[in-house]
Amino acid sequence: MSLSASFRCTAGCPGSWPLDTVIYQCPACGELLEVNHDMEALKQQSGDEWKATFDRRWMTRQWPYGSGVWGKKEWVQPHLRDENVVSTAEGGSNLFWAERYGKSLGLDELWIKNCGNSHTGSFKDLGMTVLVSTVKQMIADGKPIKAIACASTGDTSAALAAYCASAGIPSVVLLPKGKISTAQLVQPLANGAKVCALDTDFDGCMAIVQKLAMEQGIYLANSMNSLRLEGQKTVAIEIAQQFDWDVPDWVVIPGGNLGNVAALGAGFDMLFELGLVTRRPRLILAQAQQANPLYRAYKAGYDNFEAITAGATEASAIRIGNPVSVRRAIRTLKKFDGIVEQASEAELAEASASADRSGAYTCPHTGVALAALEKQVAAGNVQPGQRVVVISTANGLKFTQFKIRYHESRIEGVTSKHPNTPVDLPNDYEAVKRAVLSGFDL
Ligand SMILES: *Cc1c(COP(=O)(O)O)cnc(C)c1O
Ligand SMILES: [Zn+2]
Repeated sequence: MSLSASFRCTAGCPGSWPLDTVIYQCPACGELLEVNHDMEALKQQSGDEWKATFDRRWMTRQWPYGSGVWGKKEWVQPHLRDENVVSTAEGGSNLFWAERYGKSLGLDELWIKNCGNSHTGSFKDLGMTVLVSTVKQMIADGKPIKAIACASTGDTSAALAAYCASAGIPSVVLLPKGKISTAQLVQPLANGAKVCALDTDFDGCMAIVQKLAMEQGIYLANSMNSLRLEGQKTVAIEIAQQFDWDVPDWVVIPGGNLGNVAALGAGFDMLFELGLVTRRPRLILAQAQQANPLYRAYKAGYDNFEAITAGATEASAIRIGNPVSVRRAIRTLKKFDGIVEQASEAELAEASASADRSGAYTCPHTGVALAALEKQVAAGNVQPGQRVVVISTANGLKFTQFKIRYHESRIEGVTSKHPNTPVDLPNDYEAVKRAVLSGFDL
């Protein structure tokens, strides 16, 4: 099989560029690029043969195919030589059946795809392995790259720093000062990145890193770089695989810069076009009300997208007012008959807490997605017999302060409905017994 993939303009301008070209935007029109695979070559293998290939590799010890991303290597980055793969065995994350929470909403089949169960605790690992591996190969081939840089709301920088440290490539991260969680700040520090905390918001960091990437030797790792989306795309493939090659009725995903929803769509598209599945799911893109530029555009028929200044939200990783991938996200949502929904701070906090009480441990962004789902169930769009998958984008353990504030009823503007705090007791059996037994109808 002679496979190939290259960059091309998402707006359809002519031209294509090899994946090891330092290029992020179309030179003719300035639009983002996408990775275009030679689908005819991929069709040389039937849908059933691809399923067998992917199933054989799932969680195998045969390096690098045990990675959820590299097990799909032909669909992701066919030009990468195995010796340049920088992997932490990312992907293959579990689907959690949120049975009790789902049933409380009237849904028999609510599943949470735990993309936060990953090396650095978010789905960003899936894209970063592709980007850093490709850069490693570029450096091996003599390209003059000195460092990889990104602007981040926290998780991108954690992933970039880890993969770069693993590969021995310097990394630089620009963060909005005071606007990310403590865990997210310490991750790139621990991995030895050059961490710059800027006195601005994410959109401000993004503007500066784009200029920085025009300097010789600095390679840009933000999701305007489509290599990342190729790795993130594998979440769609995994979901189908985990349901024995069937797609759910709905996939709900929180969105900020809006690259991930485009990646998800690209994954489902390939599954469909290459004959592994026979339909596409519908999508719900969930935004925090405080950072909802796409929701506003959706309500107005998508025609006039306007960037906003995003307000403070517990869902800090999606606090973005000027999303880089907005146009490709809108294309994806139209194609997948998508809905855009928003969640207030109270709605996201309560949805997160409800899911936790049925055994999940959700980050605030997952809370945004769950709250959006609750609203779409109430609106009658998502129906009881349907199978729903919610993409959990990060591990709840990265957002301890959010959890603590919720349970201590200290989230501003939110009256916690299910706070749970420790019972302080003396070292005394009778007191402990009274406290324990008073909690039950005995
Ligand atoms: C990056 C991120 C998102 C948003 O993904 P986009 O591609 O920017 O829409 C959502 N949740 C978490 C936890 C993230 O780190
Ligand atoms: Zn173009």
